Amino acid sequence: MTSDEIRERFLSFFESRDHKRLPSGSLVPAEHDPSVLLTTAGMHPLKPYFQGREKPPHHRLTSCQKCFRTPDIDQIGLTTRHLTCFEMLGNFSIGDYFKADAARFAWELSLEGFGFNPDDIWVTVFEGDEELGLGPDQEAIDIWLEIGVPRERIVLCPRSENFWQAGPTGPCGPCSELYLDRGLDFGSEDDLPGGDNERFLEYWNLVFMQFEQNPVGTLTPLPAPSIDTGLGLNRMALIQQGVTSIFETDQFVPLIKVGEELSGKQYDGGDETVDRALRILADHTRGMSFLIADGVVPSNEDRGYVLRRLMRRAIVQGRRIGIEPGFLPKYAQVVRETMGKAYPELIEHADTVDMWLASEEESFNRTLEQGMKLLEDVIAKTKAAGEEGIGADEAFRLHDTFGFPFDLTLELAAERGVGVDAAGFERLMERQRENSRPEATDGVVDTREQLRVFASAAGAPSIFTGYETTEQATAV
Ligand code: ATP
Ligand code: MG
Ligand code: MG
Ligand code: MG
Repeated sequence: MTSDEIRERFLSFFESRDHKRLPSGSLVPAEHDPSVLLTTAGMHPLKPYFQGREKPPHHRLTSCQKCFRTPDIDQIGLTTRHLTCFEMLGNFSIGDYFKADAARFAWELSLEGFGFNPDDIWVTVFEGDEELGLGPDQEAIDIWLEIGVPRERIVLCPRSENFWQAGPTGPCGPCSELYLDRGLDFGSEDDLPGGDNERFLEYWNLVFMQFEQNPVGTLTPLPAPSIDTGLGLNRMALIQQGVTSIFETDQFVPLIKVGEELSGKQYDGGDETVDRALRILADHTRGMSFLIADGVVPSNEDRGYVLRRLMRRAIVQGRRIGIEPGFLPKYAQVVRETMGKAYPELIEHADTVDMWLASEEESFNRTLEQGMKLLEDVIAKTKAAGEEGIGADEAFRLHDTFGFPFDLTLELAAERGVGVDAAGFERLMERQRENSRPEATDGVVDTREQLRVFASAAGAPSIFTGYETTEQATAV
């Protein structure tokens, strides 16, 4: 089944069950929603409906939403299941059906629509949380038992996994997730769903929207209990196409290929550095194309910084595997060929995308050239002075003042047989992070910190993600 077929199968399944199909919203959240920098889930554009601030076009909705998750950037290429920019399929009930129907729909579509063997599906349920004043979700356990899931495949998970919120504030609730057991080739007997392992592949999250998370950290009930679900289209493609990684699915094969052609290197040819670089390039070039098509431009702030970071990481990876400069627009062309039909904005804004890719690549390459000259000087001085390696101060100056990525300092120094004081560099970075945090002199700061913790616990980027990263505006 192709990705396009998966999208259609999901949406038409819910349409035939009285859900209204909505188009994907932008990756840039609506102006009235400052809680997140970028759309991280299908429910973002629907928030006003859950909150009762706007009347929905129908009480049952379904959509395929483009999403972007900044906190997942560092994971890219290391796991088989994470992308920064991915498609989330969802069905939503705005005060209509609740837990039982949401679970039944998910079960039916998994088995009949997507051909899963019921014995391979495991589910997780919220175990409760004292701080939130909530007990275990017995209702959800009973629903799954009634559907026919044996008790041993229902796993209780803590708030970090099974309490979902869209950001530091907004609608939230306990959730129940569906996992596919990929078998012992992907992990061990001891693995369980909800852990960070590759054996149990989380593919669908059913959120029982019941509360509003308030800025002061309290929960109040929503106008009506609602359902918000998210199924990762690209993860479903991995399953349906019988491959082991999201990068081997139909949307990504052409992007891996273009990387192979440009670098002359082979994917899955035994060199993990090459494989990881090719995966990062495939993911990031797609992400940057979508971001620019939705109006984001590279800058040192907020979402512009997320975009810049993505571009610079891609450029560094491209250089690492020997791709000639000026390559980003070549990837963008392939992104359009694979995704342009489903997302015509990529075609409509092709010129803008190519323009920003070319200009950022050019300016960052200048930064890299300058940094490399400086680094050569530092290496020469280090050697001449008979020092053990490059001091943390020098490495930090290259990073902080000249925007030269620390990773490259490490790599180039190693090539010249010189070490770097990495621990010292980390200490300087940490000090800088601390210095640029607001002083904890008033209650507001505590609340903000608290929100940040909440948000990261929910796996969502908070408004403070941008704030934490702008201080490293020139870093990659
Ligand atoms: P994981 O634990 O694997 O990081 P998650 O719990 O953060 O996933 P949810 O917030 O529950 O994910 O999102 C709903 C669904 O969206 C997931 O079940 C998954 O299918 C998909 N999804 C989430 N993050 C990603 C990602 N980075 N890349 C691709 N698909 C994703
Ligand atoms: Mg999860
Ligand atoms: Mg989840
Ligand atoms: Mg996650």
